[in-house]
Amino acid sequence: MKDAVTHYCAGCGHGLIHRLICEVVDEMDIREKTVAIAPVGCAVLAYDYWDFDTMEAPHGRTPAVAIGLKKILPDRLIFTYQGDGDLAAIGTSEIIHAGNRGDNISVIFVNNGVYGMTGGQMAPTTLLGQTTTTSPHTRRIEKEGYPLKIMEMMALLNGVTYLERTAVDSYKNILATKKAIEKSFKTQLEGKGFSMVEIVSACPTYWGMSPIKSVERIEKEVIKEYPLGVVKGE
Ligand code: SF4
Repeated sequence: MKDAVTHYCAGCGHGLIHRLICEVVDEMDIREKTVAIAPVGCAVLAYDYWDFDTMEAPHGRTPAVAIGLKKILPDRLIFTYQGDGDLAAIGTSEIIHAGNRGDNISVIFVNNGVYGMTGGQMAPTTLLGQTTTTSPHTRRIEKEGYPLKIMEMMALLNGVTYLERTAVDSYKNILATKKAIEKSFKTQLEGKGFSMVEIVSACPTYWGMSPIKSVERIEKEVIKEYPLGVVKGE
């Protein structure tokens, strides 16, 4: 991590997840061969915080840029960092085809259930009963449909090697998140193919609650809809 003050709100999970990635990169001693592809979303400025090579991609096209880079630099560790809007809405096509082809990249998917950067609109991952700026009467099955479970969908694709869902709401889950990131990076460096870690995270600003209440909400509500653990692989 660079010695910089981030632009993230108090209690946001992005800063914590950024740090976990940096710890893994340093512990694996791969800083010189790591390239991240930053998304459009609240993490759009991730390149200001990571002290390794980082590229920026148009909204949702992050895996396409990662795959192109991996093809010309196959010895590098290439990972995408994406939120709900980037991966689970505008980028659904890119992520499905990357997984289906078994492209040898790592994907870090941060699921906080809303669009943060653009003002707290409903995301495909928003929970039933959750109020957002575009679902003022809450998300309802008959109007807005069901939350999209990306990992369970990706697990059906033959090209996908490893999928794990974690959270950053407790010390235990933070450690599990770090381990999963490391496993994803090792999967790629061993040439085993496509891997993805979904990290359930808080957006206190657009959940309309304090950082402490946000962490409690992850534990009490969010991980009931998005259960933690390995979804595919060992
Ligand atoms: S709006 Fe939400 S996701 Fe974006 S920086 Fe603030 S807390 Fe984090």
